[in-house]
Amino acid sequence: MTRAGRFAPSPSGELHVGNLRTAVLAWLFARSTGRRFLLRVEDLDRARAGAETQQLRDLAEIGVTWDGPVVHQTDRGRLYQEAIRRLEAAGLTYECFCTRREIQEAPSAPHAPQGAYPGTCRDLSTAEIQAKRTWRPAAIRLRSAVNHWTVEDTLHGSFTGVVDDFVLRRNDGVTAYNLAVVVDDAEQGIDQVVRGDDLLPSTPRQAYLASLLAIPSVEYAHVPLVVNSDGARLAKRDGAVTLRDLAAVGISAREARRRILVSLGLPGDSPEAALSAFNPASLPREPWVWPGV
Ligand code: GLU
Repeated sequence: MTRAGRFAPSPSGELHVGNLRTAVLAWLFARSTGRRFLLRVEDLDRARAGAETQQLRDLAEIGVTWDGPVVHQTDRGRLYQEAIRRLEAAGLTYECFCTRREIQEAPSAPHAPQGAYPGTCRDLSTAEIQAKRTWRPAAIRLRSAVNHWTVEDTLHGSFTGVVDDFVLRRNDGVTAYNLAVVVDDAEQGIDQVVRGDDLLPSTPRQAYLASLLAIPSVEYAHVPLVVNSDGARLAKRDGAVTLRDLAAVGISAREARRRILVSLGLPGDSPEAALSAFNPASLPREPWVWPGV
């Protein structure tokens, strides 16, 4: 399978300039290295009616083109089940009955990194599991053999982060993001993951899981976010931040594209026009402060 990059939006609302800038970057990274560019709608959770159609329209407006059909996570349950079955067969999972509150209130395990699952359900007996099943459906957790894992990132270098017994399938039956993303990227032939750097802390978990599933490691580039004038991650409440908002105040999609490219130090008014000038080494490493309009 030929190499590919991707953009994987959650259809929870409209894309804002921060999301669009990340999409432009993912496209530039992929196209400048001769990769295909795929679009995956991460609709396992938080899908809002109409959001996907609007997102695809906005991506096209901003000049982000993709190859082949758009893939939806809700169509891929069998792949996720199969991956969990493989991990189960290797003794790498367990059932967890903890509520969020129980996890928060549990004393943390010795030597466990802060915020890690305390391991309450890791060694339950068969009788205990059977008793607990009668009052609460189980989530499936990974039986992790490490506390940390290191990944290589094009922009961040070596990054070491926490790996705990994270959830693979929630107790409402929904596949967890960390499992779905790893299975999807591998199955789609994606070997380059470019996304916002808010996801960098989750990456060691995903790379560790990939190693357990014998999935080759991928190239990561976690790109800086767009922030508001207070330094907080850009959100809908920060004024005109979507293409529709911007159009309403007289800023065309073409002008929005140009501003995004200027923020990346790139010429032209479309990703295509900027392609030959794109060089990851000279990308700004700081968040872009959206000046507001
Ligand atoms: N669906 C995630 C989001 O919109 C992105 C996941 C990824 O790129 O791995 O934040």
